[in-house]
Amino acid sequence: MQIYKFGGSVLQEASGIRRMAEVLQQAERPLVLVVSAFGKTTNALEELASLSARGTREEEMLRKTEALKEYHVEIMRTLSGKAGDHDPGTNELDHLFSELKNLLATGPDSSFDPWHDRIVSFGELFSASVVFSYLKQKFPDIVYKDIRKIIVTDSRFGNAGVLWEETGRRVRQAFSAPGTLFLTQGYIAGTLTRETTTLGREGSDFTAAILGCILDAEKVTLWKDVPGVMSADPKICPDAVHLPGISYQEAAEMAFYGAKVIHPKTIKPLQNKHIPLVVRGLGHPDNTSTTIWDFEEMERHVPVYIRKERQILLSVFPRDYSFVLNRHLEDLFGQFKQWAFNISLVQISAISVSFCIDDPGVLFMERVRKLQDDYEVYFNREVELLTFRHYTEKTISEKLKSCLILVAQRTRLTAQYVVKRVAGE
Ligand code: ADP
Ligand code: ASP
Ligand code: MG
Repeated sequence: MQIYKFGGSVLQEASGIRRMAEVLQQAERPLVLVVSAFGKTTNALEELASLSARGTREEEMLRKTEALKEYHVEIMRTLSGKAGDHDPGTNELDHLFSELKNLLATGPDSSFDPWHDRIVSFGELFSASVVFSYLKQKFPDIVYKDIRKIIVTDSRFGNAGVLWEETGRRVRQAFSAPGTLFLTQGYIAGTLTRETTTLGREGSDFTAAILGCILDAEKVTLWKDVPGVMSADPKICPDAVHLPGISYQEAAEMAFYGAKVIHPKTIKPLQNKHIPLVVRGLGHPDNTSTTIWDFEEMERHVPVYIRKERQILLSVFPRDYSFVLNRHLEDLFGQFKQWAFNISLVQISAISVSFCIDDPGVLFMERVRKLQDDYEVYFNREVELLTFRHYTEKTISEKLKSCLILVAQRTRLTAQYVVKRVAGE
């Protein structure tokens, strides 16, 4: 069994979808093809959801929804080379878009989160529908599966937890036909009562890992717009070098500290079963790729640089003038768990504790006010967390040139800095 996942970055234009079909011609079967939303569609849907929740005028939402529809119809037209109106996929898209418009017009009722997940799930429904109608011409035996009925989760909308036992049963049953090419959606899932959930932003990589792990795949391949995992994001560091093979642990560290190329949850299910994870460049010459497996720290000598933006440095001082005690930590971590704060770094001093967290957006100030009941709170928004694995002094000093260092931490293998950028890199 093979699992191929194609992300939004390679599926943003018809040319990427054509290349995907070429890759599928050569691929071994059985194969499960997992697709993400095209390009930045999920961002557009998030924006529509927040416009609707704020009671924005219907015309404005309609205009944006129509633009999103036109984007998908245009891709479909280019793929079919026809006017598009008679393509069977157009009917399916019409149907999905009218469902979306209804949800936006109604707005969230008492519970925002389930409604929000339904809205953002449309990205993968649109893309799967367009891709299916195109691939059906080339692979008439392709089988479409709605993953919302197969991956079962709890009701933590936005970042749902997988119910592994039930999911295992359903996945094995759904993808059992030998020699078949299956097509399904990444990122989205459903509860036992059939409410739509999502697995966390960028979660399609994780979908591929869930399926690979349960189906004991030979390997899981993530097709991306980069030639594999590099020593830094090639979009911000043109001198980044390609890493042909890295260990699961190295990949997990990179993903955890913000290397966007792999979703952090992807590694563990595959590591548990020793299934190789391959990151491969679609359309890159020489079929370059990175294999992530049980390697013995193959790439230790290559310095790796990871930049995580949109961070907040939050410093908290107990109001009772005491030292930071275990009870304060217990209290703070308890709160943060409830608020789903994503913590990347913690630093404790005698009278304060500082956290580097992902910016939770509009809810942040409300959270700060709650903390202020018991603590003095200071924070710095729009900071970055810079992580250097296998660092050298030279690699660090180059990257820190235009940065004001707010916090620094070092171990033998990893150096981390929370910084404020003072001039563009
Ligand atoms: P997908 O389309 O599968 O969702 P992503 O956009 O999430 O793909 O991930 C690919 C992007 O990750 C690349 O375009 C690149 O800019 C970024 N990236 C960040 N860190 C790295 C890294 N170390 N190696 C390769 N790409 C990286
Ligand atoms: N479409 C989803 C997102 O943009 C999931 C993914 O791309 O992996 O977050
Ligand atoms: Mg992604």
